Formats: sequence, structure tokens, C-alpha cells
Amino acid sequence: MTDWLEAGARHVWRPYCQMKTARPPLPVVATRGSRLILADGTELVDGLASWWTACHGYNHPHIAEAVRTQLERMPHVMFGGLAHEPAYRLAARLAGLLPGELDHVFFAESGSVAVEIAMKMALQYWINRGVAGRGRFLAFLGGYHGDTLATMTVCDPEEGMHSLFAGVMPSQLMARLPVDDESFSALDAQLAEHAGEIAAILVEPLVQGAGGMLFHDPEVLRRLRFLADRHDVLLIFDEIFTGFGRTGELFAMQAAGTPPDIVTLSKALTGGTLPLSAAVASRKVFEAFWSDDPGAALMHGPTYMANPLACAAANASLDLFETGEWRADVARVSAALAEGLEPCRTKPGVVDVRVLGAIGVVEFEGAVEVGALCAAFADRGVWVRPMGRVVYLTPAFNTPDADLDRLTEAFRRVL
Ligand SMILES: *Cc1c(COP(=O)(O)O)cnc(C)c1O
Repeated sequence: MTDWLEAGARHVWRPYCQMKTARPPLPVVATRGSRLILADGTELVDGLASWWTACHGYNHPHIAEAVRTQLERMPHVMFGGLAHEPAYRLAARLAGLLPGELDHVFFAESGSVAVEIAMKMALQYWINRGVAGRGRFLAFLGGYHGDTLATMTVCDPEEGMHSLFAGVMPSQLMARLPVDDESFSALDAQLAEHAGEIAAILVEPLVQGAGGMLFHDPEVLRRLRFLADRHDVLLIFDEIFTGFGRTGELFAMQAAGTPPDIVTLSKALTGGTLPLSAAVASRKVFEAFWSDDPGAALMHGPTYMANPLACAAANASLDLFETGEWRADVARVSAALAEGLEPCRTKPGVVDVRVLGAIGVVEFEGAVEVGALCAAFADRGVWVRPMGRVVYLTPAFNTPDADLDRLTEAFRRVL
């Protein structure tokens, strides 16, 4: 029944994986709601929503129906010179949902590429305004912004998964998040010295995700907005992880009431069905490109940008957000994680347990053994894949209570 697994295993190069020593992957044949269904019929409760994408659960009928209808009508057309309803409706809806003047939506297919586009927008913003020398970015320890070459340079040099490349790629300015007066003053001084070289400050609002699931206070974002304005540099929020309800707000930036100049979105944008991302610029950024000079245009255009199937899925996902039911669901998941994970605080090696929105984190002193833990969790009927020092849960918002119990019980037993 799984002859494809053996035939393909010699040829598939897996992500984040030492191919020689890694345990074999689990063969999944179907998904349903909060469950992964394996080839041998085992059902695992998914604690991750497939890297934070499937926020409404798998195979949501409303999203599936929208994609099916779009598939019959028009699976894809190029976006250069052509327009289609799914993308134009989606852009208008995103602009309506995003705070401030974040009104100009540039579509791409992956998170990393959206971050690259945001970086390119920021660089060209200064070029178009005739300001020379603004070629660098300031990013934060603990941050993660993607795996492509440019995005690697703005990840945490140690925790951001790319330490191997230190010195190979141009280095950016790195700082501690301004969480207190001391780090605020240090960042203020760093900006005073380097503002003339900096195109933008880049940060994941409220939660630094893949760099360690680190939370910070909304006040940090207000300080960053203040410092970006004081030193006249652009501010980019990478909401690829936090966007679409994960933190309890539709967008994490809303907790601080401080919109950035550019925001990036992806992950849960299509409710975990199809790859799609966007870099959304404020009016101020967009206006630097608005000109009679063709050379001032943004020269970017991924082949599959604004794929109609993906945009139809995203519109259907937004329909589900518009019902507002997600808020109560996120609060319910949050309470279940807080209660269910609290006993992990006293387990050996655990240094912290924290919960924000539908994110539950157990942090260890040192790196954990990913393969062994995944296998132990699978034996308990759940799918969990740790990252560095953290073992975490980011389940679908509509995960039933019994499945949430199974997830947190597995944590209490395995850890
Ligand atoms: C996942 C992620 C990315 C990269 O997205 P990909 O689709 O994997 O390229 C960038 N930024 C943040 C905050 C992310 O969580």
C-alpha cells in the first residue's frame, strides 16, 4: 500500500534533515479536521496545524468548495497584464482588514519571497527618493524571516537555523529587542550611529516564531515605531507566523495599535491549503514608486503570483474569519493549553512554560532530540515536532476539546 514510500525515499531530499541518520517520515494518506490519517490507519491529532497554516482545521468544506469551483473555472493565469477576481477581491479585503494605510498588496507564493519583496521595496523606497547608502537592515536576535539567501541574513545568527552561513552572506545589523530601558537606549544609540545605512527595521510582532517561540510585550512594538520615526527608517512587520488570529488578535500588530510601513503575510493566509503570500505596503511606501519614470517601478513578478486557486482559498478563509467564531475558539484553545501545559513546568530540564493565543510553548535548557520526541509523541497519538529548545503546540483553532486534551496529556507524559 505504501510502495511509493520506498520507491521515492531514495530520491526525495527532506527539509531540515540529516538524510543519513534521520528516522523515516510518517506516511500520511489523508487529513480531516484536526487529524492526520496515516497509511496504516492510525489517526494522529495534529498539534502544529502543518507549520501554523491550517488554522480552520484540514479539509474545511467552505475552503474546499471555493477551490473546487475555481479549479473548474480557471486554475491559473499569469498576473502580468491580466487581472482576475479572486486576487482583486482578496487585495481589497486584506487592505480593509489591515490597520492604518497598509493598502497596497503585492502577491507571491511563499513567506520567504514575501519578506524578500518587502526588503526590496524598502531598499528601492530610498533609491526612488534619491537617498543613497540605505543598503542594510536592522533585525533582532531570536528572529526568523525565511530560508532564502537575503532572508537568512536577517535571521538570528545562532537560533535562526542558518549559523553555518555566517560570514558567507553580507551581515546586517543585529540588536536585542527593546524590552526594557537599557535595550531601548542601546537600540536608540545603534540607530543614531547607523540610520544613514539602514533601509528598514524588520521584526516579527509579539512572537518570534521559528527562532524560539519568544513572546514580547506590545509596548516593544510601540517603541520600535517611535525609534523608526525618530531615526527616519522604515519599519517592516513580518506577520507570516502571527497573522490571522494565532495570537488572539487578527493581526498581532493590533495589540500594539502601531502599524508598520510594510507587512508580510503567508502561512495561514489560505487556511493551510495552497501556497500564497503577500507583502503589503503603506501609502507612504507605495507613493515612492508612483511616478512617470518606468525605472521607478517595482521590478518583481513571481510566475505563480496571485494564483487564482490560492486566492480563492484565501477569500474563503477570510469568510470564515468574518463569522468571528475564531475569537472564541482561540480563547478556548488558549485556556486548554495554559491549563494542560502548566504541569510541564516541573519536568526535568524545563525552564519555561508560556501561552499566548493558540500558541503553547514548553522551553528546555538545551536543544531537544527532535526525532526521538516526534516518535514518542506519535506513539501517544499526536503529531508534534520540536524546534531547537522548544516543544510547542499551535493547533487548529477549531480543534475539539477532546483532541486538545490528548495533545496536552501527551506533553505531560512524554516530557
Ligand atoms: C515561516 C516564516 C517565514 C518563511 O516562510 P516560508 O513560506 O517558509 O518561506 C518567514 N517569516 C516568518 C515569521 C515565518 O514564520
